[in-house]
Amino acid sequence: MLKDLLEAKKCFKLVCGAGNEDAAEVEKLVMLYAKAGCKFFDLSANAEIIDAAKRALESAGVDDAYLCVSVGIKGDPHVNKAVIDYDKCISCYSCDAVCPQNAIKYAKVKKFRCIGCGKCAKICPKGAISYISEEKNLEEILPPLIQKGIDCIELHAMGLDDREIELKWNYINENFDGILSICTSRGKLSDEKLVQRIKNLTANRKPYTTIVQADGFPMSGGKDDFKTTLQTVATAEIVQNENLPVYLMLSGGTNTKTAHLAKMCSIDYHGIAAGSFARKIVRPYISRDDFPLNEFIFNKALNIAKKLVES
Ligand code: SF4
Ligand code: SF4
Repeated sequence: MLKDLLEAKKCFKLVCGAGNEDAAEVEKLVMLYAKAGCKFFDLSANAEIIDAAKRALESAGVDDAYLCVSVGIKGDPHVNKAVIDYDKCISCYSCDAVCPQNAIKYAKVKKFRCIGCGKCAKICPKGAISYISEEKNLEEILPPLIQKGIDCIELHAMGLDDREIELKWNYINENFDGILSICTSRGKLSDEKLVQRIKNLTANRKPYTTIVQADGFPMSGGKDDFKTTLQTVATAEIVQNENLPVYLMLSGGTNTKTAHLAKMCSIDYHGIAAGSFARKIVRPYISRDDFPLNEFIFNKALNIAKKLVES
């Protein structure tokens, strides 16, 4: 059970991306990381993506893995999609180069690959890139996904709209009896407000049925150094200090240094969720047409994935 995996305090979760609706890529990622020892996968709340993950687990020969779907509220960066204003665009293609998802080619956005990380807008010299929020209607999307068989639902409780977060959380809480996860970061919140939000959302949950995913800097992973993962550990410490009956996961800037830094800072966590970094280190391999059939390439990617999972 997912509970046992969390209680063993060795849970590695691969985050495929709440906005990543590229089924072919998700299938490759899940297959590779399942072979590398990962047992917990975070996916976009999309039936096609769940099916792709299930196919991947079957071909990896893994039957004891768990699936989580992630949903966000309006304005949550994880459900944002980049949009280009061609009246302003000068075709410099800086956005193509900086996109970690290969979601922009010649200044055209492949919406199904965009994860809303914000890097393209930051680099655009003309301010031509903005975002639309692809927030989903939970009452429409969740029932069929629950029927398909999922083990966890994660709400990205980011931003300042407490009312919307509470409404979505209550809906999930009332309609799903598996483990729930709250992914939240300090972002625009004070430390006190972050703690208060977690306490409010977990007040009516049974002990140890909720994961709190302390998201340092959402989608900031990419570099494999201590500095990148510092905010993750700092956010986790704020949650840990409250001694709440929840499972604590680290995310938002995770890499191979996260476990080491967390241990140095006496963070007693149950798991680590890795997204941007985990995808980046294997992308040169999984984006090849001969992946996973080319055994040499597959094994190279597998060794890289294993190193992260085992870190
Ligand atoms: S970075 Fe901005 S100006 Fe350059 S191609 Fe992209 S959208 Fe156009
Ligand atoms: S850089 Fe980030 S926000 Fe921009 S298109 Fe790529 S994934 Fe989407």
